[in-house]
Amino acid sequence: MTTLQLPTYADVEAAAKRLEGYANRTPVNTSRTLNERLGAEVFFKCENFQRMGAFKFRGAFNALSKFTPEQRKGGVVAFSSGNHAQGIALSAKLLGMPATIVMPQDAPALKVAATKGYGASVVMYDRYKEDREAIGRDLAQKHGMTLIPPYDHPDVMAGQGTAAKELFEEVGPLDVLLAPLGGGGLLSGTALATRALAPQCQLYGVEPEAGNDGQQSFRSGSILHIDTPKTIADGAQTQHLGNYTFPIIQRDVNDILTATDAQLVEAMRFFAERMKMIVEPTGALGLAAALQMKDQLKGKRVGIIISGGNVDISWFCELLGR
Ligand SMILES: *Cc1c(COP(=O)(O)O)cnc(C)c1O
Repeated sequence: MTTLQLPTYADVEAAAKRLEGYANRTPVNTSRTLNERLGAEVFFKCENFQRMGAFKFRGAFNALSKFTPEQRKGGVVAFSSGNHAQGIALSAKLLGMPATIVMPQDAPALKVAATKGYGASVVMYDRYKEDREAIGRDLAQKHGMTLIPPYDHPDVMAGQGTAAKELFEEVGPLDVLLAPLGGGGLLSGTALATRALAPQCQLYGVEPEAGNDGQQSFRSGSILHIDTPKTIADGAQTQHLGNYTFPIIQRDVNDILTATDAQLVEAMRFFAERMKMIVEPTGALGLAAALQMKDQLKGKRVGIIISGGNVDISWFCELLGR
């Protein structure tokens, strides 16, 4: 077995330099109502205001910035129907290289249009009959494209860590930090920044209760694979943690918590009503967990990463109207 070269905080710092002038330095927002309710001081890092609406731009842009001239010529290929696709498409456009995104035929028309709008080619596949990873690998081989996965890649992880780096730089050390968890790109990058900038901080990943493979993997010590979980948190419907993300999460994260779909809707409603923010279900995982922790957060300085705000508005209204 070869040992993997895991990214370090130095890679997060290098990513931050590459992102300068390209990524938004997103705002840190607060709510007096929430602070009173929890008896804590809560700081939200608002990646729903990142370019293309989610933190995924950070990892995608960092990874593509490191391409050799040869790789740039061939371009990038990614398979995703969500925020990673848009992050890759926008980054490729900014860096002037071709991008191909492999998407399921039944992907929301809006997302397909947004991806094409950034100038990427979209290749459709049948998610019940075809294997998207095989299609991606095939395209990479035949056309000299470089495949960038959504989370299990050192440059993607280092890029995602720049959000937490900015948060600590802005508000100083925190007692607790909560970050959404899918495949672990965001959480592992956040862990690198946390252990470097606020070593005493308790760091928690939060995933949908219906797909708590991360929690089970963390507690058992080996990566568990599950079927695609049924949850409204579409950004965290991953089936397993990554070979790069897992060891960092195991080493640097304190625990993995979960939130139900009903708790996510409650958190989304709080963001909309009290903070005037549209947050997608996956982006609300951190607040959903904090609302369950209550007493545990009393008197503490708490950071929460809002990971994204891309949600179809009619669906958003339907969820909040329930
Ligand atoms: C991708 C995504 C996540 C999960 O990130 P991982 O790096 O896969 O853990 C969380 N929230 C949003 C909005 C996402 O797009």
